Amino acid sequence: MANDAALRPFFYQNLARHLGATSAKKLARLGLHSVTDLLWYVPFRLSDPGDLVPISRLRPDMPAVVELEITSTTSKTTRTGTVVVEVAGTDGHDTMTLVHFTRRRNLIAYYKKRFTPGTRGFFAGTAKDSYGTIQFSHPDAYLYEHPSQRAAALREATELQPVYHASSAVGSSAIATAVGAILDTARDGDIPEIIPDAIRAEHDMPSLAQTFRNVHQPADADTYAKALGHLKFTEAFLLQLLLAQRRQAAKELRATAWPISEDGLVRRFDAALPFDLTEGQRTVGDQIASDLSNPTPMMRLLQGDVGAGKTVVALRAMLQVVDGGGQAVLLAPTEVLAYQHYRTLTALVADLGVHVTLVTGSQKSAERRRTRAEVASGEASIIVGTHALFSNDVIFTDVGLVVVDEQHRFGVEQRDQLRHGPTGPAHILHMTATPIPRTIALTVFGDLEVSTLREVPAGRAAVETFRVANDNERWMARMWARAAEEVAAGGRVFVVCPRIGTDDDASDGADLIEAEDDKPRVLAGVAATAAALADNPALAGISIGQLHGRMSAADKDAAMAAFAAGEAPILVTTTVIEVGVDVPDATVMIILDADRFGLAQLHQLRGRIGRGTKPGLCFVVSQQPTLPSADRLAEFCATTDGFHLAEVDLANRREGDVLGRYQTGGRSGLRVLSAVSDRPIIEHARTAARQTVAANPELANEPGLRAALLELAAEGEYLERT
Ligand code: ADP
Ligand code: MG
Repeated sequence: MANDAALRPFFYQNLARHLGATSAKKLARLGLHSVTDLLWYVPFRLSDPGDLVPISRLRPDMPAVVELEITSTTSKTTRTGTVVVEVAGTDGHDTMTLVHFTRRRNLIAYYKKRFTPGTRGFFAGTAKDSYGTIQFSHPDAYLYEHPSQRAAALREATELQPVYHASSAVGSSAIATAVGAILDTARDGDIPEIIPDAIRAEHDMPSLAQTFRNVHQPADADTYAKALGHLKFTEAFLLQLLLAQRRQAAKELRATAWPISEDGLVRRFDAALPFDLTEGQRTVGDQIASDLSNPTPMMRLLQGDVGAGKTVVALRAMLQVVDGGGQAVLLAPTEVLAYQHYRTLTALVADLGVHVTLVTGSQKSAERRRTRAEVASGEASIIVGTHALFSNDVIFTDVGLVVVDEQHRFGVEQRDQLRHGPTGPAHILHMTATPIPRTIALTVFGDLEVSTLREVPAGRAAVETFRVANDNERWMARMWARAAEEVAAGGRVFVVCPRIGTDDDASDGADLIEAEDDKPRVLAGVAATAAALADNPALAGISIGQLHGRMSAADKDAAMAAFAAGEAPILVTTTVIEVGVDVPDATVMIILDADRFGLAQLHQLRGRIGRGTKPGLCFVVSQQPTLPSADRLAEFCATTDGFHLAEVDLANRREGDVLGRYQTGGRSGLRVLSAVSDRPIIEHARTAARQTVAANPELANEPGLRAALLELAAEGEYLERT
């Protein structure tokens, strides 16, 4: 700790201290509050002002720099009231005009004062031909008064200019000025090293201060590219170090070991299963069984495509713990899913004498008391529930394993808390049905071991997918007729809407993509769609149910039950059914306004059908989709491979969307790194980070690194509370 005192606070200070309140306020609107925020706000490209040329060599659309002596400055007012300040200049041979448009009086005066005849300077702009005379509009001007200043002005005028993502309040050049001021203020040691010296040397990285200079004020494009690469590595290293530390800390916890017994519950369960486990279920099951028989808490992520059979894998793990006298908890993201898991698990263990209890927040007093008592007395061995499991009125006896279903909804910090378990350190199994591309797994789940179920059980019927244009009446009619046929044959039909109502924005967790065209349109809502279908002659006599997140838990259960039992075989719903809902008789999935859903979500939705032996049919209904969504839907119709779709989705979506979707807590945005395209950097950084944690777990003599980690972790906590 002693050397932390040597760390000067400059890097993490508020910008207002250095730039004044007005500038700081404007920068804050870009999310830039501290010195470190600003320095990490790197230009996204460089603009080349072009070479110094005589006027005679200017060509339209060519960026160039000319040296002029001003000969006259005049202004005139156009019919619309805009003032044009025309500055004429000569390079000794030819003349040209610099035009400035403004409506502000003080600017007119400013131009006239600045560009008085006789003034000399360099002007950078892009030439335009206006009725035969060559012009620059609003050029960058670099004036000089004395010939001794000429060389410096020329250098400035022809230097590469950083281009920043700007806003109307603060332009790119204002950001450059602010960065310049900060870099000028910084003294030796003000910008602490983050990457340990040995690693920096190995990668030939200059100091962090120099790297920031090189990225913001590069001498050439190569310097900029190198510096950007170094910053990406630095960011990746920090993230990976945070994950490596979490992983290390968790490994030092001690959980109970649950050795597998040869004639125990798991064996009896396997023997009674009506099907054979797939190869993948066996392999992953063995991995988990061996994790559980160890006192080091398991931290495993089980990813498997929809329908791959994760529940059975999880249940076998739970039984291993129950066999040893422990409790196993299954945490579900929604009440619908918790209830469904409860029913499935209860049925699966019915003959084993294992007691399963459901705990949700909406249970009424008598039931609430009964279930909490079952948990507290240890009568309940398997406890299924929502987040209500973590409220104070639930007291466990001895939790050996927590299974988290559909875990992409938990951030790093929440995972970290979970590890300490409800009754001391526990084994944790996270499950996700959203196949996770490798770089995302590394970036977001770097603290977990990953197991993958690639195959789905044999004998699973195929799902075919068709696109239907909603203005094609023949096709639409055919689709509803097909739905009716399916119902007549004993099947069930999901109709998914992007919104709950049509008059508001409530989307019930639908991760909607912004409209890709500008035409406003009303997205399908549950009630309106259900009403329209009730009037559809093709569906006459078929009872139509509704399900969405604003219904009470009891109504939701009733709707699901009526659907499953076939009393209301058409269910109009939002994406609340997206994750995990398992109704084997469901054979048709109709997705309305499908062009507004991302691939991952479409895939999840389609995963709700074709779960039994009957083949499934999926219809994606949309208007004539615009280009990106047309590609997306074509890709979706062409394959059911979730891993392939996840990679395509990753390549097509905006960075923030990608990370944000996987991580609700923790920092969801990266500063310079791209989880989409920087995979080699991330992998490299991960190795370096793990080595660093192994060799120097306390990060002794790395005050800059420790400070940066604290800042990163604090940001995560902050985001989680908001
Ligand atoms: P998911 O991985 O999407 O959670 P589930 O665990 O819900 O999938 O399994 C989907 C369906 O497949 C369930 O009805 C389950 O009983 C069944 N199933 C699981 N494993 C197998 C298997 N090895 N063979 C046949 N059916 C299986
Ligand atoms: Mg599931």
